[in-house]
Amino acid sequence: MTNRSLAVEALKAFLPRVPRYGFERNFDRPGHAEVSRLSSWIRYRVLSEEECIHGVLSAHPFSVAEKFVQELMWRTYWKGWLELRPGVWTRYLAQLESLKVERANCPQYHSATRGQTGLSFFDDWVSELVATGYLHNHTRMWFASVWIFTLKLPWQLGAEFMYRHLLDGDPASNTLSWRWVGGLQTKGKIYVARPDNIAKYSEGRWSPKDSELNLNPEPLPQDGVEGARPLPSLPALPLSSVRCVLAHDDDLSVDLYLKGVSGEPRYCALKLDLCSRADKVGVFMEQLRDDFLARTRGVSVTGVEGVVRVMQDAGEGVIYAPLPRCGDELPVLIQLQSKLRDQGCDLVFFRREWEERYFPLAKSGYFPFWNAVKANLQR
Ligand SMILES: Cc1cc2nc3c(=O)[nH]c(=O)nc-3n(C[C@H](O)[C@H](O)[C@H](O)COP(=O)(O)OP(=O)(O)OC[C@H]3O[C@@H](n4cnc5c(N)ncnc54)[C@H](O)[C@@H]3O)c2cc1C
Repeated sequence: MTNRSLAVEALKAFLPRVPRYGFERNFDRPGHAEVSRLSSWIRYRVLSEEECIHGVLSAHPFSVAEKFVQELMWRTYWKGWLELRPGVWTRYLAQLESLKVERANCPQYHSATRGQTGLSFFDDWVSELVATGYLHNHTRMWFASVWIFTLKLPWQLGAEFMYRHLLDGDPASNTLSWRWVGGLQTKGKIYVARPDNIAKYSEGRWSPKDSELNLNPEPLPQDGVEGARPLPSLPALPLSSVRCVLAHDDDLSVDLYLKGVSGEPRYCALKLDLCSRADKVGVFMEQLRDDFLARTRGVSVTGVEGVVRVMQDAGEGVIYAPLPRCGDELPVLIQLQSKLRDQGCDLVFFRREWEERYFPLAKSGYFPFWNAVKANLQR
């Protein structure tokens, strides 16, 4: 069972560990106590990045919390980076589509995803991912590197497999991290999983032999990333007149964002049936949605009729929704907006201030982004 209270408790419980995070975070130990395990809540914004950073900086000076804050900001950075280049996401989806036949007929793909490669370390990672919906960051890097360079499978299929099973599966963090390992994010710079690094950071749990890994791989062929577009502007949210709100799985704390500024809006939450996610991920998301609905006394909706009913009950012609990012929700909400328009109802998207402020900074690499953010956060 999961809900926001558990997420808030987990954040609180991790605060005393933040000073050690920079030293310990790269070790993958059973139980993963050296990292926060907050990602599956932050992914659906049950906890927001700003809330986590505020919590951490209330407990520690910036210099002590910096590494953890920097990692939290990677999420905002990846999201912003993809929002400025949505073609990278649509191209990835098109590539996946064109790999469908290859995937069905590729024995190596099936042995990899069943954890039957004969590489005991990789097979262990597959088992952990499928059983728990989580892998440590370092292990995700090793996993992607072995998938791409040793097993020589298409990176897109590995990204899709991980996305399907991770409780925190996130279009931006996942797709762009896979691209980064393969050398597509930072031109020609690849991440190679090495036996000594794996043995050191797993404290000997996994000790691959040199002969089991490809230690001199070539970067994947470049795929020509477009330049960053300006962040499309959205109308400012008329906070005091928001009466109806549509939440979705990209933002399950929109009620807390609006609290105190917009009276008591009527809430509903869109339930998407995502065949792209494993069953346990679907159950996890459902529990978070139910928790949101219990907190807001909202209703679950699956399509246009449900939304219209909520708007009619509230006597409103306009419903507001946080703009979903590139991912599963966006096309569904855009389609919903057009169907609602046909019924004389308006679905108006808005962006949180956090995104308005930081997404436009994700124009190039992480460090220029971080330097600008750091100055801002320190202020
Ligand atoms: C190949 C690969 C695939 C990944 N796929 C995903 C994914 O689908 N969803 C996802 O949330 N993260 C993904 N990550 C990033 C990272 O591995 C996870 O966010 C992190 O392991 C989550 O565990 P934690 O909460 O214990 O992290 P902590 O180390 O405790 O970090 C705290 C928070 O900072 C953020 N964070 C930390 N590292 C990263 C990072 N490298 N990129 C983005 N945000 C980060 C997360 O919100 C995390 O919860 C991926 C990384 C790799 C290398």
